[in-house]
Amino acid sequence: MESSSAATVSAGPSLGPTPADLLRRLRARGAADPVTHVERVPARPGVPAPWPSWAPPELRAAFARRGVVAPWQHQAQAATLAYEGEHVVVATGTASGKSLAYQLPALATLLADPRATVLYLAPTKALAADQLRAVAALELEGVRPACYDGDTPRAEREWIRRHSRFVLTNPDMLHHGVLPGHAQWSGFLRRLAYVVIDECHTYRGVFGSHVAHVLRRLRRQCARFGSTPVFVLASATSGDPSTAAGRLTGLPVTAVTEDASPRGGVTFALWEPPLLPPDSGPSTPVPPQSTGDHDDLQQVRRSALRETADLLADTVAEGVRTLAFVRSRKGAEVVAANARRALDDAVPGLGDRVAAYRGGYLREERRELERALLHGDLLGLASTNALELGVDLIGLDAVLICGYPGTRASLWQQAGRAGRSGQEALAVLVARDDPLDTYLVHHPEAIFGAPVEATVLDPANPYVLAPQLACAAFEAPLTPADLALFGDGAKEAVDQLVAAGALRQRPTGWYWRHRERPEVDLRGEGGAPVCVVESSTGRLLGTVDGGSSHFLLHSGAVYLHQGVSYVVDDLDLVDGCALVHAEEPDWSTHARDVTDLSVVSVRSYVDAGPVGMFLGEVDVTSQVVSYQRRRIATGEVIDTRPLDLPARELRTVAVWFTLSPQSLTLAGVQPADVPGALHAAEHAAIGLLPLMATCDRWDIGGLSTAVHPDTEAPTVFVYDGHPGGAGFAERAYGTASAWLRATRDAIAECGCESGCPSCVQSPKCGNGNNPLSKPDAIRVLDVVLANLPE
Ligand SMILES: [Zn+2]
Ligand SMILES: [Zn+2]
Repeated sequence: MESSSAATVSAGPSLGPTPADLLRRLRARGAADPVTHVERVPARPGVPAPWPSWAPPELRAAFARRGVVAPWQHQAQAATLAYEGEHVVVATGTASGKSLAYQLPALATLLADPRATVLYLAPTKALAADQLRAVAALELEGVRPACYDGDTPRAEREWIRRHSRFVLTNPDMLHHGVLPGHAQWSGFLRRLAYVVIDECHTYRGVFGSHVAHVLRRLRRQCARFGSTPVFVLASATSGDPSTAAGRLTGLPVTAVTEDASPRGGVTFALWEPPLLPPDSGPSTPVPPQSTGDHDDLQQVRRSALRETADLLADTVAEGVRTLAFVRSRKGAEVVAANARRALDDAVPGLGDRVAAYRGGYLREERRELERALLHGDLLGLASTNALELGVDLIGLDAVLICGYPGTRASLWQQAGRAGRSGQEALAVLVARDDPLDTYLVHHPEAIFGAPVEATVLDPANPYVLAPQLACAAFEAPLTPADLALFGDGAKEAVDQLVAAGALRQRPTGWYWRHRERPEVDLRGEGGAPVCVVESSTGRLLGTVDGGSSHFLLHSGAVYLHQGVSYVVDDLDLVDGCALVHAEEPDWSTHARDVTDLSVVSVRSYVDAGPVGMFLGEVDVTSQVVSYQRRRIATGEVIDTRPLDLPARELRTVAVWFTLSPQSLTLAGVQPADVPGALHAAEHAAIGLLPLMATCDRWDIGGLSTAVHPDTEAPTVFVYDGHPGGAGFAERAYGTASAWLRATRDAIAECGCESGCPSCVQSPKCGNGNNPLSKPDAIRVLDVVLANLPE
């Protein structure tokens, strides 16, 4: 997705204060110092490399016309590996020019062999369109790059299949269009030299597991047509990219991770908004509908949105070009609006220099905002995540990150927008009231000293493997040799499909028995997708997988679609359809569920005296029972409303630990406090799991109980929220002591008295965060950690 660094638009000279001065002024505003840590990330000079000798002169000249004088070392290294036929993943930082690493070998091959073809995959259509423009701008003869996606007119599709030699698409189109129609694509696939997988770290969890099998199906078709393409993957910085890329493609992949692009120095501050005195908080009259009486006792921190808005106003007032990253679009608008108001109060008219950058803008409008920011006409921009932003938008004087973005990889991607060579910049991470954020601002080593997390996916998930094998059998009968390609569990899955009547075994292999092709949605799971329909027009806005529909589309839910806010009027489960109308209330909705769980089997366990740690299959029954409405600007709870939805069942993978009642008594946990202790430990453990694996807390669920019928002991369960599991619980089991140590520290270090959203309270708790015991949760985790081997 990225243009080479040399072609990047760079901002003009900074006229504002130095980052150190700026930070000093920002932190001097309040009574307490909100800064918990300051890290200096030094500048790094770029290391250029000569053009590889195999790169033809006309290709070098084409890049030179685009402003690329020479590649950086990592680009040249990855390009040469790929050119020599090795599968390679380049995993380096924002704007390090990863695209050159695959464009160079792919285009050199297209120029050398007038028949060869290249397939490029991006997670979004917008990214493929950006990349199309970049390749087209090189104006190379005979390449004829073209996007092939759901928007491509029918009339153009045949021309593209026949004549384009650089096809840009996405995994969904590969799955729904190219592979089932392989006969029409045979000419293209027969000559396929490279498969480029951009932003491959986005293929994680269940979606990533599906994409892994789509790529195996692609490899199978290529093999049938006699081609063996080289895979080139580009990833954000991630832990162990070679293993993740290998799981994704099923091939041995060499990683290039040494970033040789230049980077400006950054002063990086960790910022924890102050706790509000209990009586002054956002004044919340007790709402009549409220059911969770404990909500009203919440002690809260100043919201990260308010804090970020103030910081944005202050940096803009200092003349500093600032980009604020906010997780939700509505949040970005709140930050921009509050900053504008504060600036206008100080100097009327100054507020005009701040804008929100939201989805739904046309590309031209987005680029205009980026230009205005780079040229200093605009000084502050509040935006959602980096994928929507122009890749050229780097070299800013300050970046504010409102809430930990979920992974160190995205944290560095966002912070990477700050700083340009020769000048220092400021980055600030503003913690939200969430246990993971709390842990991180008190453990800078977990940000600055730790490798970024690994991308987790599990192609062996039977709920993914079986439908994917059905798709493969539809495309061509499966043979015993194919089973090895699809990996562990493929034989069992095929046997199940035969037993279910979907496949028929013949001497030559397994045949799909139906006329229609299997319906498999890469991005959905857990039941048929639910359609989202606008009541007034009947327009279909999109679909939501069945598993999430109770959470996202219950009556009264605020549902965001491409930046536009809708409110759900009715969820019709019989017709699989939710009726919505456009409305933008100033609250968000948060569904809560209650859960029941039984153990099906134990896959692996550690017997550690009074403590047991387990990994296994479980059956989870859950029911969404109510939802909270919360003010977006402050996070304040407006009310909790009941819902009437049926319970749903899920067979998945869980990690759990048990403790003997005696060990808890010895540790000073009174029997009456055991439920609150386990419950608090469970919430915090779920909050901290994203530290170990690329999931967010909505991908996982939990349950705790003072005595569970299957374990006959006090137990805390944490399970994957996806049928068959997505690899998260497995990862938690594998890193159990590090994970629970971080959980314990996050609770112990939170400055609150008796538990708050920053440590043991959970926004999705089905029991209204009751009971919870913060001090006893620490005792529970101390017992586990004292017994569990490292
Ligand atoms: Zn707390
Ligand atoms: Zn709970």
